[in-house]
This record gives sequence, structure tokens and C-alpha cells, in this order.
Amino acid sequence: MIPLEDITAALAEAVRTSPHNYVSEQMALAPEDVGQRLYDDPIIAIGSADDPLWEKLKEPQAVGAIFRTPKQWLPQGRCVVSYFAPFSDYVVEGNREDNVLVGNGWLYARVEGQAFLTEMNHFLEQWFESQGVKALSPYASEEFKYVFEAGSSEDIADKSLSFTSNWSERHVAFVCGLGTFGLSKGLITRKGVAGRFGSVIVDAPLEVTPRPYTGIYEYCTMCGACMRCPGGAITLEGGKSHEQCSAYVHTTRVKYAPRFGCGKCQVKVPCERGIPKK
Ligand code: SF4
Ligand code: SF4
Repeated sequence: MIPLEDITAALAEAVRTSPHNYVSEQMALAPEDVGQRLYDDPIIAIGSADDPLWEKLKEPQAVGAIFRTPKQWLPQGRCVVSYFAPFSDYVVEGNREDNVLVGNGWLYARVEGQAFLTEMNHFLEQWFESQGVKALSPYASEEFKYVFEAGSSEDIADKSLSFTSNWSERHVAFVCGLGTFGLSKGLITRKGVAGRFGSVIVDAPLEVTPRPYTGIYEYCTMCGACMRCPGGAITLEGGKSHEQCSAYVHTTRVKYAPRFGCGKCQVKVPCERGIPKK
């Protein structure tokens, strides 16, 4: 059985050595940004493909009927390997400086960093392959579907669906045991909320890690600090409005084109870098 430590070490090495995890001269908005690292070493949790929670993700209050369980993606799948890659101090601190203006590092991590995360998912597929294990990253596959606004995707039959996908990395991370949701709908891990998730489904029996919580919002103190949202998208009563968040983030495309971003709900908050104390 492949130990968790070996998977963690292999992914950390890939994260450290990929040139796409560093600001290049071509993408830099300021000379001092060149060479800065975007993502820190990831943490990993492993879930069982037979976990009954996968079916629950199909409920409307979770991901919805569009969600495909691990076995729907890979029928012989045995486990799901989910990782959280925290943003580096350079990225987080740069976005703490102003309540509205977005830090350069955040913009790179959000836009160029997305390609980097896809690369890491493909890395995991290939690494498991080298161990004789079939691995599939739904997010990096051609069958991945994300629905923005209701009715916006021609190939999705249910026109009422919005802001959802057939493989939600945050929900997958929740099932695997990486963390719980916060008021801001970010997933709070032991390394905080500021970062991104990825995962692969494997056909090998790995040691499943514990899910050290039962509640969906167990790690969130409901302190309300994330209501500093400049788009007014977060309230204590209603949680986060994906529509309002999306509309606000869209406005940033004018100022930062071809990039965009915000992330103010993930910085200068008690859950930024860890599980907040109650
Ligand atoms: S800032 Fe407070 S309320 Fe918002 S997600 Fe973090 S812990 Fe929860
Ligand atoms: S990303 Fe920005 S607009 Fe969206 S919820 Fe967070 S703070 Fe608000």
C-alpha cells in the first residue's frame, strides 16, 4: 500500500520545482515580483470511494444532482486523494495590504495559478501511474463541467443549476477530511482557508485518513470577519451569495485585465492560516 507520506513528499517536490509556481519575468507586473513563490507545500487527506457522503453531495443544498461520485468518474475507483495548497506568504500578505485593491500575487495565483493546479493534478495522475495505479483528476478531465449562472451552459439539461460543477474540489476535500466550510463558503483547513484544492481518484486501496469533524461548519466561529467583503456578498443570516460575489469579481476584470480576483474574505480573518480558536 502506498503510504500517505510518499504521496505528500512527491506532490511537495512537484510543487517546489514546477517553474509555474513562481512569478516569471513575462507575467510580472512589477520587477520585485519576479521569482516569488505562489503556493506552499500542500497537505493531503484520503477518502474512501465507498463513503456514503458522496451520494449526499447530490442533494440540492450541497453540490446538487450534477455531482458525479468517485465511482461515476472511475468505476474501479477505491480512494480519493484530496490536497490543499496554501497560498504563500507573499500572496496572502500582498492581499492584506488594502481592503479593496487586489495584491499582484493574488492575481497571479488566481489566474496563472489555475494552470499550475491543473499541472499538479496531472502530475498526481502520472505519479500514481508510475506506481502501477490508475488515477483520474475529474477537474483536469474533458468531462469536467462548471455551471456559472443558471441556464448559461447549453450541455446542462437542468437550467436551474448555478455556480456548481460535477466535481466540487471543496466538497470533495470536506468528505476526505481536509476541513469544514466557513461562513464565506471557503473550506477551513488546518492550514487555513487561503489556498486552492485539487484531487485525484485512484483504483488502489490507500489508508483512509480520519475525518475529524461531523458538522459542515464545525471549524467556523461565525465571527463575521469575512463580512469585510467589498462586494457585500456575505452576511451572518444568509452566508455567501455566489451571485453577488461573482458580480463583484467580474468588476475586477476591468481594472486587472486580463486577470481578475478578490479574496478579501480569505485574508485578515481568523481562519486565514489555520482553524480559528472558539
Ligand atoms: S472569518 Fe470568521 S465567520 Fe468568516 S469563515 Fe472565517 S471563522 Fe467563519
Ligand atoms: S471573493 Fe471577494 S467578493 Fe467574493 S465573497 Fe470573497 S470577499 Fe466577497
